Amino acid sequence: MSKLKVGSIEASPGEMVYGSLNVGLMADGTPIEIPVILIQGVGDGPVLYVQAACHGEEINGVEVIRRVVSKLNPKELKGSLIVVPVANPLAFRSKQSYTPIELENMNRVFPGRPDGRLSERMAYAIWSNCIKDKADYVIDLHTGVRTMLTFIFVEYGEDEVIRRSGELARVFGTEYIVKEVRDEYWKRIRFGGKLRNVCNEHGIPSITPELDGRRCLNEEAVQIGVRGVLNVMKYLGMIKGNIELPPKQYILKWSPGEPKITSSLGGIFISKVKPGQIVKEDQVLGFIYSVKTLEVVEEIKAHKSGIIRYVTEYPVVNAGDRILEISEIIEVIENKG
Ligand SMILES: [Zn+2]
Repeated sequence: MSKLKVGSIEASPGEMVYGSLNVGLMADGTPIEIPVILIQGVGDGPVLYVQAACHGEEINGVEVIRRVVSKLNPKELKGSLIVVPVANPLAFRSKQSYTPIELENMNRVFPGRPDGRLSERMAYAIWSNCIKDKADYVIDLHTGVRTMLTFIFVEYGEDEVIRRSGELARVFGTEYIVKEVRDEYWKRIRFGGKLRNVCNEHGIPSITPELDGRRCLNEEAVQIGVRGVLNVMKYLGMIKGNIELPPKQYILKWSPGEPKITSSLGGIFISKVKPGQIVKEDQVLGFIYSVKTLEVVEEIKAHKSGIIRYVTEYPVVNAGDRILEISEIIEVIENKG
């Protein structure tokens, strides 16, 4: 094994080194630094890149990284781990999803630009130093809202890189895996700028776990994340141990442009269903009542059969708000105990 180098940070075999990537300065002279941890193993193996908090308020992944790193001994590791606990430090310190000042979603601008705005520069620093021509696999830890399933996003398709990404998702071991279809709407909402999709374009298998409960630390989601990263490392032969999977895994299909369940009228939405519940077409899912008359003004029904993937976190709804999402189940995998 040779030295692992990321920017100006170097780790020799058997070493764990903490450093940072310097992206530039803020107006007041404050440096923008992205923290990086290198863990260089002693035996041959793949380079795994893991990041969290690309969206600044999605902190479950940061805690996942802390617990995973604390369990690793570089002298027993095969291959290398490149870890960025906080990919967007500006959004993180502001306690918000998007990069402050420009209000950009950093996970829409990968691979970034060296001469771009703040989000593009941070994305480029990560892409060019940690991933491009370096990482063999990428895990981009995200966090959904509390009223969404814990699941993993991968792309839908038959390509080899997508198949291998699907394998990573399966061994990560969430109960739900969502396959994202590249439809017309996918392009319009800049999904091509998600880190996972850029990695796939470059032949690097990549997954996006969505560990539920942003703006808080959800112990259950953190544990799923820790088990997942360690499972992937076991699968890749980087550490020893048995892969731990849930008894059942549901593979779901999702097209960003498919019809959504939205409110036609405004008011307060009362849901009769929970994420993970299997529903049938035309089933009543909840209702909206008017705050003027307190009467039910709209009944919400399932437009198709499937599984509830998301229910709005905040039940105050205006006309046109997305209130529920149903995903189609395309496969159920039974894992032997
Ligand atoms: Zn996110």
